[in-house]
Amino acid sequence: MKIAVIGAGVGGMASACRLARRGVRVEIYEKNGRVGGRLSNFQKDNFRVDTGPTLLLMPHVLRRFFSDIGRNAEDYLKLAKLEPVYRIYFEDGSQIAPSTKTMEMIEEIGRIERNGEAGYSRWLADYRRYYEIAMREFIMKNFDSPLDMLTPRGIISLLSGGALRDLYSKTGDYFSDPRVRIAFSLQSVYIGAAPTRLPAVYGLIPYVEFTEGVWYPKGGLYSIAEALEKLCLELGVRINCGKAVQRIIVKDGSASGLLLSDGTVVEADAVISNADLPYTYLHLISEANRPHFPDSKVRALKKSCSALMFYWGIEGKVGLPHHSFFLPDEYLKTFEDIFDRRVMPQKPGIYVANPCAHDPSLAPAGKSVLYVLVPVPNTASAISWKDEAPKVRKAVLERLSSHGISDLEKRIVMEKVFTPEDWKASFNVEDGATFGLSPSLFQSAGFRPPNKDRRIRNLYFVGASTHPGGGIPIVLMSAELLERRLAKDYGI
Ligand SMILES: Cc1cc2nc3c(=O)[nH]c(=O)nc-3n(C[C@H](O)[C@H](O)[C@H](O)COP(=O)(O)OP(=O)(O)OC[C@H]3O[C@@H](n4cnc5c(N)ncnc54)[C@H](O)[C@@H]3O)c2cc1C
Repeated sequence: MKIAVIGAGVGGMASACRLARRGVRVEIYEKNGRVGGRLSNFQKDNFRVDTGPTLLLMPHVLRRFFSDIGRNAEDYLKLAKLEPVYRIYFEDGSQIAPSTKTMEMIEEIGRIERNGEAGYSRWLADYRRYYEIAMREFIMKNFDSPLDMLTPRGIISLLSGGALRDLYSKTGDYFSDPRVRIAFSLQSVYIGAAPTRLPAVYGLIPYVEFTEGVWYPKGGLYSIAEALEKLCLELGVRINCGKAVQRIIVKDGSASGLLLSDGTVVEADAVISNADLPYTYLHLISEANRPHFPDSKVRALKKSCSALMFYWGIEGKVGLPHHSFFLPDEYLKTFEDIFDRRVMPQKPGIYVANPCAHDPSLAPAGKSVLYVLVPVPNTASAISWKDEAPKVRKAVLERLSSHGISDLEKRIVMEKVFTPEDWKASFNVEDGATFGLSPSLFQSAGFRPPNKDRRIRNLYFVGASTHPGGGIPIVLMSAELLERRLAKDYGI
């Protein structure tokens, strides 16, 4: 059996490895000159800069992927846990640095919130339960229809716990200080959503951070893409970089291969698209072949926000931890600007990674790398990033300066700016929605577009915009679910 995969992102490479291990001939066609997709980096002036993911969560999912294909993750990657998890800087000068050490975490919350210890214990107990239910009933499960979610145990447990309310309001069950509540809900931005609009069950993200920790692979997150590429080659997967796919060939209601932009036709028994799902439907499959999913329906899917990025090489060291968040007083309102008004928030939320805090190998001696991510509207807005990016850069530098990092601008010796338009052009993510389809209630689990087209035979999906969603570990799970699906469909 031969399978053609569109895209060498985490999802494309991980599913290719899993299928090759089962004896399937797998060929990947990647438009860019290198693998990794949004898990990417660049090297300039001896700085090695991760450009997408910076936090590795749930390392056991990565380890399970390696062991499933007969390998040991430690032979490919050197993973280290970061402690504290990160530091959150509020505009009023207060800070919270969450920790996986329970006593330190309680102390940290207790500095701000009087009854923090009791609230934290209840939060841990509730989310331990949601974690088990969500993994079993909603995440590690293939859905063919939303009705498949109606297992009484799962739905009742989640509804009775209020896990389908919005994440920010749910934090009020445990904590009263808005800063603590934000520390337990800001993680919605990892999947491009507002804490006030994300189902509370996504509090599983801070739950895994505060219990299992945030991890870092030596050499940067791109080491994971390099490890996946190595595995693909070891398992006989052919990766064709610089080969853009123009069309998925559909004959008599069945995907039978790919038409590449250079005119080459690739025949295959099945096609997997790792390219962003809305993009795949809109641009790679003619509308005539998908009456069940016309353009109007695809365009109606809700998208995540985007990210404006500044990557800096800095002279000297920077007095910041590995991961920091700088949040404005009106943090929750920034999401109304991003999603409703589609304008740039006046005072944006800012995430900064200073990876040289743990890994000086990323920069020349005596220098540092800084990675700045600002959540912004996607390209469905009318924003001109050429005009807006310099203003946001100034706001970032002013905010850092207000926390004592005041001499940064004159120490920038290397700079690259990446806008929502760049995300769209570089990785074909529809509307430059960096994090893929929004994880709203009606686009999660059985409501999310599944990993198998409902009508076109032999057409499958893997990656952030299909089930279960975005983020490295979740996309690895998406590859595992796809493997199960194909094993069943083809008896491989
Ligand atoms: C700024 C940013 C920060 C993030 N931070 C984190 C983090 O800290 N931790 C975390 O776990 N996750 C993070 N994520 C999310 C994570 O990067 C993604 O969920 C994951 O990498 C998506 O992988 P994927 O395989 O679904 O898709 P992609 O990485 O998008 O891969 C799809 C591939 O398909 C290729 N392609 C598209 N169209 C075509 C075509 N026509 N022909 C051929 N090839 C094509 C693309 O070039 C791409 O290589 C972050 C993402 C971003 C953007």
